[in-house]
Amino acid sequence: MPAKQKYVYFFGSGKAEGKGSDRKTLGGKGAGLAEMTNIGLPVPAGFTITVDACEYYDAHGKQWPKGLDTEIRQQLAKLEKSVGKKLGDPQNPLLVSVRSGAARSMPGMMETILNLGLNDKSVAGLAAATGNPRFAWDAYRRFLQMYSTTAVGLPKDILEDKLHHLKQHAGVKFDHELSADALKELCGEFKQFFREQTGRDFPQDPWEQLVGAVNAVFGSWNADKAVTYRRVEKITDLKGTAVNVQQMVFGNMGDDSGTGVCFTRDPSSGENVFYGDMLINAQGEDVVAGIRTPIKLGDLAHKMPAIYDQLCAMRAILEINYGEMQDLEFTYERGKLYMLQCRTGKRTPAAAFRIAVEQATKPLMTPAEAQRLFKAGFLPQKYVAAAAKPVITTDQAIVRIVREDIERLFYPVISPKVARAELDQKKLCEGINAVPGAACGRVMFTAKEAEEAEQREEPVILVRKETSPEDVGGMQAAKGILTQTGGKTSHAAVVARGWGKCCIVGCDVLVIDYEDKSMKVNGTVIRQGDFLTLDGSAGVVYNGQLELQRPQPPAEFYTLMGWADKRRRLGVRTNADTPEDAAKAIEMGAEGIGLCRTEHMFFATRERQLAIQEMIVADNVEHRKRALDKLLPFQRDDFIGIFEAMNGKPVTIRLIDPPLHEFVPKTQEQADDLSRATGIPADDILRRSEQLHEANPMLGHRGCRLCITFPEILDMQVRAIMEAAVAVKKKGGKVSPEIMIPLTIDAKELRILTDRTRAVADAVLKEARVKLDYLVGTMIETPRAAIMSDAIAQVAQFFSFGTNDLTQMTMGLSRDDAGRFLPDYVNASKYAIFKDDPFQSLDQPGVGKLVKMAIDQARWTNPKLKIGICGEHGGDPDSVKFCHRVGMNYVSCSPYRVPIARLAAAQVVIEDASRGLQPAAAKSSSKAKPKKAATPAKKPAKKAKSRR
Ligand code: PEP
Ligand code: MG
Repeated sequence: MPAKQKYVYFFGSGKAEGKGSDRKTLGGKGAGLAEMTNIGLPVPAGFTITVDACEYYDAHGKQWPKGLDTEIRQQLAKLEKSVGKKLGDPQNPLLVSVRSGAARSMPGMMETILNLGLNDKSVAGLAAATGNPRFAWDAYRRFLQMYSTTAVGLPKDILEDKLHHLKQHAGVKFDHELSADALKELCGEFKQFFREQTGRDFPQDPWEQLVGAVNAVFGSWNADKAVTYRRVEKITDLKGTAVNVQQMVFGNMGDDSGTGVCFTRDPSSGENVFYGDMLINAQGEDVVAGIRTPIKLGDLAHKMPAIYDQLCAMRAILEINYGEMQDLEFTYERGKLYMLQCRTGKRTPAAAFRIAVEQATKPLMTPAEAQRLFKAGFLPQKYVAAAAKPVITTDQAIVRIVREDIERLFYPVISPKVARAELDQKKLCEGINAVPGAACGRVMFTAKEAEEAEQREEPVILVRKETSPEDVGGMQAAKGILTQTGGKTSHAAVVARGWGKCCIVGCDVLVIDYEDKSMKVNGTVIRQGDFLTLDGSAGVVYNGQLELQRPQPPAEFYTLMGWADKRRRLGVRTNADTPEDAAKAIEMGAEGIGLCRTEHMFFATRERQLAIQEMIVADNVEHRKRALDKLLPFQRDDFIGIFEAMNGKPVTIRLIDPPLHEFVPKTQEQADDLSRATGIPADDILRRSEQLHEANPMLGHRGCRLCITFPEILDMQVRAIMEAAVAVKKKGGKVSPEIMIPLTIDAKELRILTDRTRAVADAVLKEARVKLDYLVGTMIETPRAAIMSDAIAQVAQFFSFGTNDLTQMTMGLSRDDAGRFLPDYVNASKYAIFKDDPFQSLDQPGVGKLVKMAIDQARWTNPKLKIGICGEHGGDPDSVKFCHRVGMNYVSCSPYRVPIARLAAAQVVIEDASRGLQPAAAKSSSKAKPKKAATPAKKPAKKAKSRR
């Protein structure tokens, strides 16, 4: 018979039934209370009702699970026994708080009820027992107010008004200045209001009060604000909230009482100082509610030195115990200190790095300070040595940092000085948050006008229905990009991410009128030249200008990334198309270029655009070659710049990829323009454009198919690459070119193209009398290429998985359009068919299986094959970890994601080592079948291999 489920866990008198790791069952607060109790900190006794009970309540029409009632009664009796008081006792009543606490912190989103157990009789008992009637009636009025609004749903403002009127009438400013009689009168008014509104008296039975309060906390799990918070924070893995019922202690019992909220380190800067706010003679909620201006925690050192020293000792004990910066709540009642909460504290990204690095390298306090606290009797002997040492290892520091900590370090943000009210007032709409950060500028509706505005040194927000490669100049000119359509891997998003440029896509409420140079957004008309501010992190569009700031990465960022580099085995390259991107990526720690998309270079200037268009509309080889000859010097110069910036690091240059029709003029005006520049009749241009039109361009005449049909393009590009390499080498520079053929579907197709590539490359080297090594490889972007990887690996010197296209083709979902319906597939409150957007995080069970199979087969026929990834997934931490586990040599991602990939590549080594796993061999030298990825290691993992 399965054991009966336990729903209630006791803590008190130095022992708890739960423990700190039980967050899923007890919630964060409950687990923290249990842990603090177990390690001997002074925690008022109580019990935690589990998350499972809340889940049951939710799923069974607000019914408690069988046995919960009895368990609560038993634990309540135990609590009463342990503190020697009874709930509702008319002489000396026990009062309890009833608080929510989910496994992840949702600050202020759910309910709390304090002082439960008071009624018309016990309030007199409390007054007598404390000798403080004012305190007792204030506690009762707080309880009446909280219970009426939270458990019964009476309007908050009416009760607040009554309190306000009373203060006005009594001529006082603060609550604590009201007399006992005035508070007693207010309690009477609150009870009368309760009767009028509900038709019954305020519950006097403490058990009834407790049941009502527990249900109110359970119910608050589904309150609008809590649901919205979970949606915004993408919290999808929680089942409900726990409920903590705990003996009340009072910080408002006079000047020897107080309460505060503090952090074991400064959460803004990360500095190793004890940081917090507190109030003397107040209850905890007063600090949070900002009713009175708090004093600095440090002031307590003078006012109540013994309490302060005790807190300092607890700060050390908790940091040593959790190895993390903690957010604490405490109360001291008549000189006795109690801990009410501890949880991992939220911090700014800069603080995240400083805290991690300092916790791993510096002691929390000096040995002298630890000795002093020990001698004072506050720090137990067993913590004295640990308090004067670092509390975590460098591996723990690496594992702790999350992708958002890095992303948010680099993107400009809306200044925290901008008031909430101003944000609310200026908010226009929301879209998909494609690239985080913030941008502010004047709206321009065409790429051309965006570029012109930039030349006038005006900041620009480019607003388009969607973007295409032709907009690339305008996108580059803009500070931020806003589109009506598209998802996170749409063109706009991919390009913007590469530049670290704030971008919001899929904002369907925009009604853009290009003719009128205006758009309507939820009733507001925005005209060209008006200011908009984008918050790409949240996907919110604001009307007007908001102040922005760009944070500087702290020194600790570089320290921690250095540790990560020593741990990882996976190489990290970047996707970069220009020398500037390449230089930025080097700054971010890139070890090479994994993808240079050459077609982006064709749009950099009007001259280049004309040359590529002339090449496309050419109706015979001669004309095409003539146009290509114009492009060659441009491409060669770009490659020289990139090779120089990379200074011998490998540079993977991809030959032309997109369908030609994307490049050709489509309107009469554009055709006339090209006609004037080239002398080709506009009608011919339009006819050619029509010929090139494709129903499914992404499955059409693109990638290496273009070079099969028009080998002159390959000739020009390979020549430009190799001439650039030769030029740099001749100047004494180092080069390591890797020529990459996109979208292969067959080994024979690839053989034709690699043979031609080698012929051109070798000819260039021969002409120049220069020797240099270069590689010719391919992208694995089609399912057929993955399936036939063993044959293709015999032709290629390297593979780079283009997982944007591979995902698109394997799943049969358009990367440009799926953003419209994918949210339904990913949203946990809808169907949750996929855990994540497969264009963001690699679909490991599906596309990942194909990738792994392709690698295993390819290494079977070509064990030395170098393998990487250059799809968007190369910068996604989960996907990077997957790439390590299946034995890739490197990942490649946009410059700003390079540190994210470096970190994830180190984290997977640490995580797998702790689980006794090792990756599939990244450069197997034998023909033995590759080992299964992530299998239990027989020997300890080998030292890092070369990453290139
Ligand atoms: C890919 O398909 O993953 C890739 C990198 O190529 P692109 O995004 O340019 O199609
Ligand atoms: Mg591709």
